[in-house]
Amino acid sequence: MSLLTAEIASAGYGRATVLHDVDLEVPAEGRLAVLGANGAGKTTVLRTLSGLTRVEGSIRLDGRELVGLSPYRIAAAGIAHVPQGRGTFGDLTVRENLLVGGATRPSRAARAEADRWMERFPRLGERAARPASGLSGGEQQLLAIARALMSAPRLLLLDEPSLGLAPKITAELFATLDVLCRETGTAMLLVEQNAQAALGIAEQAVVIESGQITLRGPAAELRDDDEVRRAYLGV
Ligand code: ATP
Repeated sequence: MSLLTAEIASAGYGRATVLHDVDLEVPAEGRLAVLGANGAGKTTVLRTLSGLTRVEGSIRLDGRELVGLSPYRIAAAGIAHVPQGRGTFGDLTVRENLLVGGATRPSRAARAEADRWMERFPRLGERAARPASGLSGGEQQLLAIARALMSAPRLLLLDEPSLGLAPKITAELFATLDVLCRETGTAMLLVEQNAQAALGIAEQAVVIESGQITLRGPAAELRDDDEVRRAYLGV
């Protein structure tokens, strides 16, 4: 059985329907990339999985139905969401940002876990008591990912982690993400415009256009697909 099985008949905001018949599966510890152009509906996919849109259909995590649950319950069920942009609270310190991610855990355990993250990533540790806004873009993205992993999720949702980062920083961030998810056994659903980076880390991928899936397959196959190469890899 897949960890995540989503059969989204439709999803949107108010009267606006953005997604139509979007079916997704992520195996336990698996990785799925969602590719697509600006405005295709990628962010809406993640927001739907987190309970932030109007949705018709079924979204199951480990067999448990999530449609109808509050975003808080969905997070507690094991889905952590790193939103687009700097998913950090700039006015809070680095330590406080990590502790926000541990809000579903007893506080002593959360503090110990935050300390472990800051030992592991000394750049975060050095700035533990400073506002997160002082971190570089890549460091803020790392902090947002660490904060999401603080809740020990089964599935990590990532919305364009490469946005605004230089290619070298993106490569470093994805290498770190790869190691962290492997170590913790966390599955990943990654939305990206940077198809190169996304197909490098994912096992499976889908392409979404105008709210519908138009292509799906193993990441390696999509990398060789002429249409994907033209539209998303700039080849
Ligand atoms: P981007 O890469 O620019 O974030 P995306 O693929 O993530 O694009 P979405 O943000 O999911 O796309 O947007 C898909 C469609 O949904 C767009 O047409 C957008 O205008 C619409 N949309 C997004 N948010 C809302 C909202 N809160 N209310 C109504 N429509 C929305």
